[in-house]
Amino acid sequence: MKFKYELPWEIKRKEVRDADEERILLNKAVSLLLNETYYGPRPCISTETIRKIKEHLGSLEERFFKITNGLDPFDSLIVQDIKANMKAVKSYLDYTTDFKNKNVSLFLYRVFGQGIYRSVISGVKLENYPHELIHEYKKAMFEPNSRQIDSEAILRAQQEPFITLKRQLVKEINNRKEIVNQFLVNIEFLKSASKKDYFLELSSGDGTACGFWDGMNYYIDISADQVPCFKPKGQDTYVFSKGDLTQTVCHEIMHAAKDQISRNMVPNGLFPDGEDYVAFIHSPGYEGVSLYAEKLIGTQISKNPEKFGLTEKEAKIAELSRLTYIPRKLQQLAYSLYDLERWAYDGKENEKDRLPRYEDFPGYRLAKASGIERFRKDPNNLDEVGLEETLLQLSYLAGQKRIFSIAKDLEKMKIPQDKILSAISTGFWCSGKAQRRFVDLYLERVKGK
Ligand SMILES: [Zn+2]
Repeated sequence: MKFKYELPWEIKRKEVRDADEERILLNKAVSLLLNETYYGPRPCISTETIRKIKEHLGSLEERFFKITNGLDPFDSLIVQDIKANMKAVKSYLDYTTDFKNKNVSLFLYRVFGQGIYRSVISGVKLENYPHELIHEYKKAMFEPNSRQIDSEAILRAQQEPFITLKRQLVKEINNRKEIVNQFLVNIEFLKSASKKDYFLELSSGDGTACGFWDGMNYYIDISADQVPCFKPKGQDTYVFSKGDLTQTVCHEIMHAAKDQISRNMVPNGLFPDGEDYVAFIHSPGYEGVSLYAEKLIGTQISKNPEKFGLTEKEAKIAELSRLTYIPRKLQQLAYSLYDLERWAYDGKENEKDRLPRYEDFPGYRLAKASGIERFRKDPNNLDEVGLEETLLQLSYLAGQKRIFSIAKDLEKMKIPQDKILSAISTGFWCSGKAQRRFVDLYLERVKGK
């Protein structure tokens, strides 16, 4: 990929550079802890890892004493960002190791910024939840989903017609890649894109993720089950329902683009490369940008489906899928937050007060908040998910909130799309406020270009 704007950003002051290097060590230790807790097959949490994290936090605190005023604007943003990084890590550590510290909404505020807890809890309320849109989306997907061939059967094709269907599916996905690349070139975010930038790979998926970007190995994985293949009622031939596929491919390509535009252009602490990537810290900015790019391409798809090789019906599915993407996460998220609160230990000495009451059960609370009685009987398909998975899901919400608000500001100022995308893609900022100020610095530098 070649970008229209490629601007290098450097830290001027040595003390800030050292602090930036130290935060990489901090994030590496946190990433290791998450690996011990969540990503491994079974938890094997080491208190030594926790001790290391505390050590790096302490050492960073000391460094900040030595950093005096009079910093260059970019340097001061780095300091602000490292502080936000530390605050998020400290809150995570307090929340997960200190039995007395169980205020969920305060914890989320410190990790993601304001309003995340409330967005979820008020988002599921009867009056706020987009029931009509969800209904429209589910109705549109009902035929493709009900008649869908198991994607495994296509991926493991040994015989016809599956061999042909697999070939068609691979071709379609690569075709989407070309279409998205062309779109990004048309809006002048990319100067050019090459076939060798990354690979596309198909997987059977796990029914949750539509795809993912593997930045270490340079490939985009697309879940075949997200592209329903079926015979429409009364027809003899198979079709692929590819409405949402273009947006998914665009989402993953933007992850690849954000990696590449940040690599070598920002200080190391702003470009977590594998081992120092911490989902609850870096994902909001990562996902927010991809969701914003989906919105850009989605708006064009709705205006002109034909240009994107889609039928009106497919374009409608793409639109409904995009508009309901975050809402479709909310009921599970609210359940997970209630579940976290159910076990909150608020320092009550009395044993009786510590027993969970029926009103505290997450299914009951979700039923009450959403006005959907069904959740009270049993939580249906809602999962008791781990804290880290909940944080990961929340990062989409936090990211959308952050990046859409920055972009809205810039759109109001009539900043063109290529500049908006380049500015919000550069660097993996922990602090939304630092990122907002960075975007201004960025736009100042590309003024008149
Ligand atoms: Zn993503």
